[in-house]
Amino acid sequence: MAPRTPASKPRHIRELLDSGEPMFSFEFFPPRTPGANERLWRAIREIEALGPSFVSVTYGAGGSTRGMTVETTERIATDTTLLPVAHMTLVDHSVAELRHLIGRLADAGVSNMLAVRGDPPGDPDGEWVSHPEGLTYAEELVRLLKESGDFCVGVAAFPYKHPRSADVETDTDYFVRKCEAGADYAITQMFFDPEDYLRLRDRVAARGCEVPLIPEVFPVVRTSFIPRSEKLSGAPFPRALAAKFESFGDDTEAVRAFGIEYAQRMCERLLAEGAPGIHFITSNQSTATRQIYREVAGPRVRRAEAGRP
Ligand code: FAD
Repeated sequence: MAPRTPASKPRHIRELLDSGEPMFSFEFFPPRTPGANERLWRAIREIEALGPSFVSVTYGAGGSTRGMTVETTERIATDTTLLPVAHMTLVDHSVAELRHLIGRLADAGVSNMLAVRGDPPGDPDGEWVSHPEGLTYAEELVRLLKESGDFCVGVAAFPYKHPRSADVETDTDYFVRKCEAGADYAITQMFFDPEDYLRLRDRVAARGCEVPLIPEVFPVVRTSFIPRSEKLSGAPFPRALAAKFESFGDDTEAVRAFGIEYAQRMCERLLAEGAPGIHFITSNQSTATRQIYREVAGPRVRRAEAGRP
């Protein structure tokens, strides 16, 4: 099926960034079961009605979820008015397979990608082993995409440094190299202290790199997330914030309300500091993120609901 491309739909994230309007985007992950697929599509349709700038679908570590990433991204391109971004990784892929994947996505009208290396399957902290005919760093995937066609390519940035990097300076050096390879924008890892984002932005700017950094926001709505947070974000969860969440004890409603309010305040601060937009992680449900989006982008959401551009 031909991609649905309304006249007003931009082709590239770069165009949205150049417009100077704050961008709001939502990240989904590939479903594992038919039931999860139905829930995901309900969430995608709910988001579509609110006119976000783009949506992205993460790339699984291996197996069937990879196929679901591609199918979901293709379906977003062909069956919705949304602008899709396909995450791609280097894990277990030869260059020939990466080229095939790029071609398949391009055929469905997907021209925005997020080029990340991925983590070793099984044990994300284990040794990274490149595919014998594959690539080693995300920087190389950026080059491959740029050589392959008219793609707008994003990369990952780590406010607190990537866990494998020796220190923030080395981390920033390699990040800048990745941008110099042709990246158009970057999306950060989740963080819980806006100062971490601002420090990253200062470090990158100090090296003369102007690639826009889109902050990723994940609203914490359960205290059980806090012990897992360091593994996911690579940063220690701020102590005072953890204590505040814990002060609500078993009152799950109070935890959720506080988590949403905290994330909303963080979005407001980041936008006031000039962040180009907010990229929300949705957990494929999007209830909390939609609530925050309505608060921080009220006029935009109301225009979308009224069917106005
Ligand atoms: P790279 O940029 O290749 O960096 C990896 C490490 O190598 C870093 O320590 C870096 O400093 C270092 N390095 C980079 N270049 C060089 C070089 N030339 N020489 C020596 N060292 C170098 N994972 C998934 O599996 N699927 C996803 O869909 C996915 N989406 C993500 C989206 C976002 C926004 C983020 C922030 C992360 C995502 N990840 C995803 C996780 C990501 O794949 C891992 O964090 C991975 O470990 C790092 O990926 P990278 O692209 O930053 O790697």
